[in-house]
Amino acid sequence: MYLKEIQTYGFKSFADKINFEFTNNLNGIVGPNGSGKSNVVDAVRWVLGEQSGKQLRLSDTASVIFSGSKSRKPLNSAMVNIIFDNTDRYLPIDFNEVSIKRVLYRTGDNEYYLNGEKCRLKDITELLTDSGAAKESFNIIGQGKIDEILSTRPIDRRVVFEEAAGVLKYKKRKEEAIRKLDRTNNNINRVNDIILELETNLDPLREQSEVAKKYLSIKDKLDNYDISLMIYDIDNYSKEFESNKDKINEFNDKITEFSTNNASYDVDLLNKKEKVNKLNISLTDMNNKILEYTKELEQTDADIRLLKERKKYISSNEDTSKIDNAKELLLEKKNIVNNINNDIKLLNEKIKIINEDISKNTVSYNDIKINITNINTKVNNNDREITNLKYNINYLEDAISNDGSVPSNIKKLLHNPLFNGVYGVISKLIDVDDKYSLAVSTALGGAINYLVVSDRRLASRMVDYLKENKQGRATFYPLDVIKARYIDKEILDKIDSTSGYLGIVSDFVKYDKKYENVILNQLGNVILVDNIDNANKISSLINNRYKIVTLDGQLVNVGGSITGGDKIITNSSIKQKYELSECKSKLSELEKENKNYLKEITNLNKDISVFENKIYDANIELSSLNEQLSTKNNTLLDLNNEIDNLEREVKDIKSITNNKGDSEEAKLLDKYYGIKEKIDKLNSEVSIAKLDKDNLDKDINLIEEMSKTSLTNISKLEKDLKNLELKNSKLEVKMDTILNDLNEEYSITYSEAKEKYYLSEDVNKVRREVATLKDNMREFGIVNIGAIEEYDRINTRYEFLVNQRNDLNKAEETLLEIINDMDNIMKEKFITSFNEIRAEFKKVFKELFRGGEADIYLTDPDNILETGIELEATPPGKRLKNIQALSGGERTFTAISLLFAILNVRPVPFCIFDEVEAALDDANVDIFGEYLSKYRDKTQFVIITHKKKTMEFIDTLYGITMQESGVSKRVSVKLNN
Ligand code: ATP
Ligand code: MG
Repeated sequence: MYLKEIQTYGFKSFADKINFEFTNNLNGIVGPNGSGKSNVVDAVRWVLGEQSGKQLRLSDTASVIFSGSKSRKPLNSAMVNIIFDNTDRYLPIDFNEVSIKRVLYRTGDNEYYLNGEKCRLKDITELLTDSGAAKESFNIIGQGKIDEILSTRPIDRRVVFEEAAGVLKYKKRKEEAIRKLDRTNNNINRVNDIILELETNLDPLREQSEVAKKYLSIKDKLDNYDISLMIYDIDNYSKEFESNKDKINEFNDKITEFSTNNASYDVDLLNKKEKVNKLNISLTDMNNKILEYTKELEQTDADIRLLKERKKYISSNEDTSKIDNAKELLLEKKNIVNNINNDIKLLNEKIKIINEDISKNTVSYNDIKINITNINTKVNNNDREITNLKYNINYLEDAISNDGSVPSNIKKLLHNPLFNGVYGVISKLIDVDDKYSLAVSTALGGAINYLVVSDRRLASRMVDYLKENKQGRATFYPLDVIKARYIDKEILDKIDSTSGYLGIVSDFVKYDKKYENVILNQLGNVILVDNIDNANKISSLINNRYKIVTLDGQLVNVGGSITGGDKIITNSSIKQKYELSECKSKLSELEKENKNYLKEITNLNKDISVFENKIYDANIELSSLNEQLSTKNNTLLDLNNEIDNLEREVKDIKSITNNKGDSEEAKLLDKYYGIKEKIDKLNSEVSIAKLDKDNLDKDINLIEEMSKTSLTNISKLEKDLKNLELKNSKLEVKMDTILNDLNEEYSITYSEAKEKYYLSEDVNKVRREVATLKDNMREFGIVNIGAIEEYDRINTRYEFLVNQRNDLNKAEETLLEIINDMDNIMKEKFITSFNEIRAEFKKVFKELFRGGEADIYLTDPDNILETGIELEATPPGKRLKNIQALSGGERTFTAISLLFAILNVRPVPFCIFDEVEAALDDANVDIFGEYLSKYRDKTQFVIITHKKKTMEFIDTLYGITMQESGVSKRVSVKLNN
């Protein structure tokens, strides 16, 4: 690489566009004082990024932009562009030429360009670092600066050696790493502060969060139990409520019945009592009449006796007295006949009443008999059904315990000692609530009798067995192969709140965790819905992607086809269990019914014996009355004969004696017997009336008795009714309270709760558990539920920060490693390069001074990275080593020695020297010039000089003048030796 061209416009004294093209060896620039030669050096420095005004020889306020002159106006910008030849790719950039341009405007805007592309200064610095062309390099030496290397502090001298050693780029990297390290450390400190603060919060929060989690899990369990209990209680209360209501209705009906009866009793009583009154009145009437007639009779009897006495004295006629006696006897007999007739009438009356009684009682008796027969028929029917049910129950129990529903070939596999690891058919491995039996069976379909086995190998052994023994086919579920199947979460979210959706079928069966995969494989992707309408809706909502079953066993298949109809369950232990429980409940229902029937029959039988006795007693009385009646009739017959005889006798006597004087007596006798007949008739009427009255009284008593019983019944019923109503209103309050609690505490309706919660354990155990859980909850005191989320949040942040700290620590380590690596590289390169330069310096010094001695050494050899470099020089014949003691020329020459030493060790692409040899005498300039010539073809030089001796060594020479006042111009210079 070499500097091919410098172009400048507006920079310092270069008001016009000017360019210098250099060759690849010794170039010279000459010109009068103040013509602008040193400005060329400044231009190169400036374009390479020099910022220091001092280095650029600027006063505080001055700018590099041409500031104008007498004849020229100031310019608004300064531009320098230098072009390197890079055909040797010395610079790591794939161009034959590399141009670096800097432009400064009056506004202060500063621009850099690399090969015409705008870039940052950093890009240029990076390209040139350690190239020997950087601004730190020893290759551009300004006017009067040559012995600065001698006068500067040892530590400042270092940078030249570092550039020569090529460690600047490592130094820059190290600095960058240190800056990063600094930032990293700051970050670590900041993160540490936050972590420390979080840690103090985190521990109590963790504790609170754990407590809250425990609390919530207990609360969850408690809620579950609580809601299940509520549902259980509501169901029981409502059952009790309904049965009470039925009883209330029944009681009300009975009360109405009793009341109606009572009303009819009252009417009856009123009628009967009126009749009794009437009878009483007529009885008094009749008795009065009897009294009257009896007085009259006694009077008539006395009259007759008087007449008879009188007659005894007047005449004694035998015939007359005979007739009189016969007549008297006749009347007497007739009177008896009358009496007997009355008795017969009375008896007939009694018989009529008893017959009526008997027929009434017989009707009741028959009614009861029919009732009993009817009930007996029902009992018999029930008994027949009970026998059937018991047979079925036995059969089903037997079938369930002996795998009756399992096909025979599978049964042979089940209990075959050849096979170890056969768990049973699916239906036997699950437990289903009756309510869901149909749905689960339908969902399982044919798989219900598939065999669950431990592993695939066993399954294939069993298949072989079936084949060998010609035992048909079977399907197996090896636990090691079958995978659980689920319903996509998005689908679940979609249908979760759809009406009729009950859940996933697998959630409604209980099973050993061991079989989970098989159960989920079959039921984990089947949806349970209440009815077929909702099933269809849900199926189309999810694009018919999953199987859906309903509670009554209808099925919507994947794809939307529907299987359904009447309840048909594949024969399985599930079906059998379902049927068994149906049979059992039916059986207990029938047994209860029969017990009630038998009780009813016992009561009816009691009633029937009461009626039987009544009829029996009545019949006995009837036969006695009939006997009396026939006796009376016989007597009557006899009397009538006697009367006939007497009448004939009287007639006979009358025909013999025609008596006229006895008509008075006959009249009296007629009167007497007429009265007597009336009295007898009245007496018989009184008896009948009394009989009627007795009957009525009996009836009245009976009715009053019945009315009393019915009133007692009514009051008892009313009391029971009141109790039931009270009970029901209490139940209503209880149910309302629970429903309210459900709503307020759990925001759930009864029907929602009923679907989700059910009591699977013993209710008393659960109640005890609830009490314990409530105690546990109380022990918690105040719980901060928010702590769970807060802990998670802070813990996430904490973990994030801890990770970040780890990352930062790793970064720190890496940076420290980088720094260490850089240090090691720099140390090695620096010390190697230093040693080489030292050896070279000793040699070059001797060559230039033609003798003498010089050396350089490290001021702090233990700290290679920071050591300064000290110089010692003793020109020939001198003694002092101290460089302060050297003359001006000697200083320049020593510095030049070091310069050449460095160039020898580390060739640089180009050097620009501004009058470095100014202080040398001609002899030494000669030595300098000869030494320079050695570098020809190796290093390009641009030498600014006034010395003719120097010019002798130059290959290409430029001249600079300032003819027009204040503006530098390039002129060509002719070279002649
Ligand atoms: P010598 O042989 O004495 O070293 P030289 O050729 O090196 O002289 P320089 O130092 O390069 O001269 O040039 C200095 C000249 O440049 C001065 O005359 C100064 O006025 C002029 N100069 C410096 N900065 C500006 C500027 N910003 N605008 C115009 N002219 C400037
Ligand atoms: Mg100068």
